[in-house]
Amino acid sequence: MFDYLIVGAGLAGSVLAERLATKANKKILLIDKRNHIAGNTYDYYNNDGILVHKYGPHIFHTNSKEVYEYLGKFTAWRPYEHHVLASVDGQLVPIPINQNTINALYGLNLSCEQVQDFFNSKAEKKPVIRTSEDVVVNAVGRELYEKFFKYYTRKQWDLDPSELDASVTARVPTRTNKDNRYFTDTYQAMPMHGYTNMFSKMLDHPNIKIMLNTDYKEVIGTLNYKTLIYTGPIDAYFDYCYGKLPYRSIDFKFETIDAENFQPTGTVNYPTSQPYTRITEFKHLTGQKHNKTSIVFEYPTAEGDPYYPIPRPENMEIYNRYKILAASERNAYFTGRLGTYKYYNMDQVVAQSLTLFKKIMQTTQTEPIINGHKLSPIKAG
Ligand code: FAD
Ligand code: UDP
Repeated sequence: MFDYLIVGAGLAGSVLAERLATKANKKILLIDKRNHIAGNTYDYYNNDGILVHKYGPHIFHTNSKEVYEYLGKFTAWRPYEHHVLASVDGQLVPIPINQNTINALYGLNLSCEQVQDFFNSKAEKKPVIRTSEDVVVNAVGRELYEKFFKYYTRKQWDLDPSELDASVTARVPTRTNKDNRYFTDTYQAMPMHGYTNMFSKMLDHPNIKIMLNTDYKEVIGTLNYKTLIYTGPIDAYFDYCYGKLPYRSIDFKFETIDAENFQPTGTVNYPTSQPYTRITEFKHLTGQKHNKTSIVFEYPTAEGDPYYPIPRPENMEIYNRYKILAASERNAYFTGRLGTYKYYNMDQVVAQSLTLFKKIMQTTQTEPIINGHKLSPIKAG
């Protein structure tokens, strides 16, 4: 009998498995349908011996000391600040848009204050910021919006920014200074030996049994456990009874090049040209020394693994109906980027899992489930 059946060996499931096993001495069965742990952060050495991220570039950044120190129990860190350039008007210029971007793009030499005046003269001020278009047009005006955001967003989401929540483009700020970093968080670092290595350490506990290549739906009727923690897509759990929640997927195309370097920064974005959104060169992120280099192109698509929840009101309405169902499910918790349909970064998922762990510890003991059947109608929580 397992105390917990955890579906999904990504960050959400693995943090909970680790906490419950080590802090509460619980017996865990951790299941994933993929052939590896680490979920979307999974990295591996390719045929040329270069460390690459199978599901696209993952850069760790957080303002949470708790999250940084928690993950630091399982990995040493390599300091890394991500830089991104955007290919615009035949130049590579920094994104987020900043003083250097404006000066390079328009051949100017504006000071910090003059850049603010420049933005003010271009901005279309909105009384209410509702959409992803509003965010950018309100800050820098329509011309820069079109150069950097409009077409990139259409490629990435197959939606116009005016159809997406403000929160999507609000992830990318506007600056008047010369700070070329993509993120400004207090802690910015990469796991020294990669994400998969960090997960191996996290899950190395006698109380944690891992089953890979296993879809939980195929085995759930045969398992004995007390409580379910589910980190897969919430709509799939409920057999899409309220319809499918839309997700955006990506086709990753990897290439290894017989040269030490490919591009000047970790990522280069292609907002208007090219069918892909961006190219990332892993050696910048990992610090690996190698005489070859590996890059990944991202081609957004509607089909494929569910990577991005799509933040817009009609999708939140569907999610909220599933959330109500989830709350009435006995002895079950739903968490993670897919389980709560939230466009979360890694650190947010870790924080969410640490919070859920504390909540579970305050919850009364639940009733066992034998061969997939609950014995009595007691709701946890
Ligand atoms: P996941 O990692 O998706 O794990 C869920 C697991 O559940 C999966 O392994 C899946 O196989 C499994 N599962 C699903 N259904 C079943 C089933 N029926 N049976 C068994 N198992 C099942 N965050 C950052 O902080 N920085 C970044 O730079 C960054 N870059 C990203 C780039 C891309 C392209 C993407 C898609 C995401 C990026 N993220 C980034 C976000 C990050 O990947 C997530 O926040 C994090 O991995 C979510 O962890 P999770 O455990 O919730 O989900
Ligand atoms: N975005 C854009 N142009 C850029 C960078 C980002 O239009 O050069 C928009 C786009 O809609 C993207 C969103 O901002 O999906 C968030 O960007 P981020 O880099 O955070 O995306 P992620 O790394 O999560 O894919």
